[in-house]
Amino acid sequence: MRNVFIKGVPHSQFVWENIGDIEAGRGTLGDSMPVLVYRLMQHTLGHTLSESVGSGKSDDFFRNAGSLAGTEYAKHVFTLSDGVDEFTEAAQRNLMEFNIGIDHISVVDRNTGCAVSAFDRGAGATAERPICKYEEGLVIGIMDTYANSRFTVSENAYPDEGNTTTGGSTMRNVFMKDIPHNQFTWENIGDIEGGRGELGVAMPVLVYRLMQYTMLDVLSKEFGSNKANDYFRDAGYLAGTQFSKHMLNLEVGLDEFIANLQAKLKLLRIGILRMEAFDRETGEIVLSVGEDLDCSGLPVTDETVCNYDEGFIAGILEAYTGKRYDVREIDCWANGDRVCRFNGKVKAA
Ligand SMILES: [Zn+2]
Repeated sequence: MRNVFIKGVPHSQFVWENIGDIEAGRGTLGDSMPVLVYRLMQHTLGHTLSESVGSGKSDDFFRNAGSLAGTEYAKHVFTLSDGVDEFTEAAQRNLMEFNIGIDHISVVDRNTGCAVSAFDRGAGATAERPICKYEEGLVIGIMDTYANSRFTVSENAYPDEGNTTTGGSTMRNVFMKDIPHNQFTWENIGDIEGGRGELGVAMPVLVYRLMQYTMLDVLSKEFGSNKANDYFRDAGYLAGTQFSKHMLNLEVGLDEFIANLQAKLKLLRIGILRMEAFDRETGEIVLSVGEDLDCSGLPVTDETVCNYDEGFIAGILEAYTGKRYDVREIDCWANGDRVCRFNGKVKAA
C-alpha cells in the first residue's frame, strides 16, 4: 500500500534512512554483493568526474562523500560515549563486519586528535598515487564525530606507488606501472581475491549505497541534482560498455543474450532482470529489474533514482546492438513501485 502521508527526504540529500530497508527490498538476492560491482561504480564515477572537472576535484568529491558517510556511519553504528580503547576496538570490529577493509585504526589523544592512523586493505590493485580518497574521508568523518574535533587523515601505505596488499602485508610491485585510477580500465578493478584476504569478494549492500548516496549528495550540492544524475548515468554507461565487453557474449541471438544477461545480473546480485517487451522493428525495449541493487527497499520520495542503471543498460544495449540507446527509468521503488522498469529507445542517428 502506498503511504501518501510520509514523504521522505529526496535522495539528492543524504539521510541514513535513504539507504532503505535492504532486507525487505532484496528478498532472494540478500544484503550482500560482490566487491567487483562496488568498484565498477566507484571507478567509473571517478573516471567520469575526472574527465569533467579534473582528478583533483574528483578526489575532493570522494573525500567529502566519505566524510559525510563516516559521520553518519559513526552516529548510527558506534557508541560515541565509549572511551578511546572501546571505541577503537568497536571501530575495528564494525569496519571489519561491514567489510570496509580498514583493519587498523589507532587513536592516541582524543583532545588533540594526534596520531590517528588507519589503513585500507581493500585494494589489491596498483596505482601511481593513493586512490582511497573516499576512505580517507570516511575515517575523517568517523574520527571527527567521535572526538568532536577536526582530523587530518591521509592514506600513507597502500596502494600508493605500486604497493599491492596481500593478506594485510605490504608488497611493493616495482614491475607494473598501471594506468592511473582516474582513468577507468577493467584491469584497474584489481585482483579482488588477492587483495582482500579474509574480507573476501563479497561486501554488504549497505556500504555500496552509503558511497552511492553520499556521492549523490555531494555532487547535487555542487552541480544541482540533474547534473549529478547525469554523472551517474555517464558512469553507468561506461560501466555497462565495459561490463559487456568483459563479461558477456555479444555474438549470440537476442533470447540467448537476454538469458545470459539475466544470469549474470543475478550472479552479481545486481537484480532480477526480465524483458517485458521488445519491438524488433524499432528496437524499443522495456526491461524490469526486481530487487534492484540501487533502490530496492528505499523510502518513497516520488523519484526514480536509478540513473546509474539507466546508463548501465544503455551501455549494454549499445554493445549488443551497435545502436545508441536512450534509457529512462519509468518505475522505481523510490516512486512507490516494487520493481524498476526501464524503457530503452534507439537514439536517432
Ligand atoms: Zn529504481
